[in-house]
Amino acid sequence: MNTYDKNETLVLHADKEWSEKEGTASPAIYYSATFMAKDAAEFAEMANTPRHSKYYTRYGNPVHDRVIEIMADLEGTETALVTGSGMGAISTTLLALLQAGDHVVAQTRHYMGTAKILDEMLTKFGIEVTVVEQTDVQEFEKAIRPNTKLIIIETPANPTLIVTDLEAVASLAKQHDILVMADNTFASPLNQRPHDYGVDIIVHSATKYLGGHHDIVAGVVCTSNELAEKIWNVHTAIGSVLSPMDAWLLLRGLRTFPIRMERINENALALAMFLEGQEMVEEVFYPGLESHPQHELAKSQMNGYGAVIAFSVKGGYKETQKFVSSLNLTQHAVSLGGVESLVVHTAAMWEGALNEEQMKTAGIPANFVRFSVGLEHIEDLKKDVLQALQEV
Ligand SMILES: *Cc1c(COP(=O)(O)O)cnc(C)c1O
Repeated sequence: MNTYDKNETLVLHADKEWSEKEGTASPAIYYSATFMAKDAAEFAEMANTPRHSKYYTRYGNPVHDRVIEIMADLEGTETALVTGSGMGAISTTLLALLQAGDHVVAQTRHYMGTAKILDEMLTKFGIEVTVVEQTDVQEFEKAIRPNTKLIIIETPANPTLIVTDLEAVASLAKQHDILVMADNTFASPLNQRPHDYGVDIIVHSATKYLGGHHDIVAGVVCTSNELAEKIWNVHTAIGSVLSPMDAWLLLRGLRTFPIRMERINENALALAMFLEGQEMVEEVFYPGLESHPQHELAKSQMNGYGAVIAFSVKGGYKETQKFVSSLNLTQHAVSLGGVESLVVHTAAMWEGALNEEQMKTAGIPANFVRFSVGLEHIEDLKKDVLQALQEV
């Protein structure tokens, strides 16, 4: 594997061996479910080589391999796996590493899909789960039992972008011989490298920053060769496969990922600071702000703070809805980390199911907004947010 110090160069050249083999300036798309062997002997070799890139696309594909080269280098792990979605990366990893009788420690707040696996699915297979407050490392320690096999963390995490101490949790896990899996989607490998702190498995929704254009759903697992083979074995059975075309779009997204991320970090920090200065804004949650309760920790383990800003508008459900619908530049859609800014009125996802009072009890403030900052010019973003606040 090639290693480049600078991310901008790495994302263009880490998969260069394939370019040399193919002789095309743009990567070839291997739109083939299956691959031919020259003869019976070569077929036997292909069929019995784990993670072969040209045997059958559920097992591997050359375009997957190119993504793998880049992602492993970005996260600083030995290797990586590509999956059909971020949830595919998470569920495949959990199914590969856990079995009945095991215990898992996770956070009180996780991505919705992960929380669903923890709440509803693992217990069905006889795996126990304890969730702890992620800001308190002692809570993780207290939750550890003799049968604890895995600690699952996610940082920063929704809804208020709370941060988990990577180094503290990873070293605690090492002492107890427990693996740690980190969902690094919200930070991205450019802003945070969990492996540098001792995290064993890093999972991504590549749908977000890595793809970066709101066009594909994809996932990545970055880890050691040994664990990757174990996870790959389950992956071939579960079949969370990324199509060669989507892998190619992910590869294309990765070429510009460092420069996109740099601008997104700049834009989001500037917009977060701008929001903090607005009278109609009640509170702003962004790890890059000094007002964030864990800013020092965030600063110590992150190089930048990403696209997502959470904030509350002065008023209730109606005022917040007015603000969100008055935004002109920002698209109303879930997801994050792409080229266009996206906005979500968090409580709106629960409208009909819960009234304002019930939302408050459930910890979903009616005036909460999640904003994913894109690549629009910062002055245009500020202008748009300002006029929308004035409409409230
Ligand atoms: C989006 C997301 C996921 C799920 O990824 P998909 O690609 O949508 O399956 C998992 N974790 C986090 C933090 C996410 O933001």
